[in-house]
Amino acid sequence: GKTARPLLQLHGICKSFGAFQALKDVTFDLRPGEVHVLFGENGAGKSTLIQILCGVQKFDSGRYELFGQDVAGLSPAEARRRGISVVFQEFSLIPEMTVEENLFLGHELTRNGRLAKSEMRKRVRAVLDRLGFDIPPAARVSGLRRAHQQMVEIAKALLLECRVLVLDEPTASLTDHEAGRLLAMVEQLRDEGLGIVYVSHRMAEIDRLADRITVLRDGRHIATLPRERASHGELIELMTGRTFEKF
Ligand code: ADP
Ligand code: MG
Repeated sequence: GKTARPLLQLHGICKSFGAFQALKDVTFDLRPGEVHVLFGENGAGKSTLIQILCGVQKFDSGRYELFGQDVAGLSPAEARRRGISVVFQEFSLIPEMTVEENLFLGHELTRNGRLAKSEMRKRVRAVLDRLGFDIPPAARVSGLRRAHQQMVEIAKALLLECRVLVLDEPTASLTDHEAGRLLAMVEQLRDEGLGIVYVSHRMAEIDRLADRITVLRDGRHIATLPRERASHGELIELMTGRTFEKF
């Protein structure tokens, strides 16, 4: 529901890399059952923000509340354990291993105790089926097309049974047809009550998926708008900081 308590909230987050301030006083929240799009030009700070969400980067100041708890100093393992799954732009799969081996990795760390191999295999099949791509579990990742590698990344995130799924430009390497299936899956997860942070520049995806859109520019939080109030023209103006005559 739209008024439910947020799954996570960032307040006044600042983050510098040396002398360069990548995030300046950024506010963001995510509700269950919503797709919250992060929108902004290259270098706006989108990836830095999601790295903070999933514990890969520490922030310098501000507050991060996850499932109602303050989580300054969150580690990636802790974020995963609490139910945040992330698909980064850079792939994390091990190319020389099979799809199934990649999907098994780390599971003994993320759940109480080791899962039996047969049970794990069942879950892997179920997740691959759900994604609707014909990806053989025994195939080597290095032999897969990039689009299929991307789907294995997403399968890996889903296997963690997360409550928050973070996707950084997930359709960048997909054909329109493949992207359509990915979007359908995101909608299904949203309907199941997951909160989804979705980084994208693509207007068609934003129109289809977004419940709210947060615009970042030069590391600053510019606006958070419900999709109904965000025309393409306005989004471009907010993103670039420039006013255009007519769209
Ligand atoms: P986006 O994902 O919106 O393109 P990023 O969050 O990747 O933006 O980057 C925001 C800014 O921070 C960029 O100027 C980038 O060069 C800089 N930046 C990101 N990560 C690092 C890092 N690890 N070290 C130094 N600068 C970084
Ligand atoms: Mg990025």
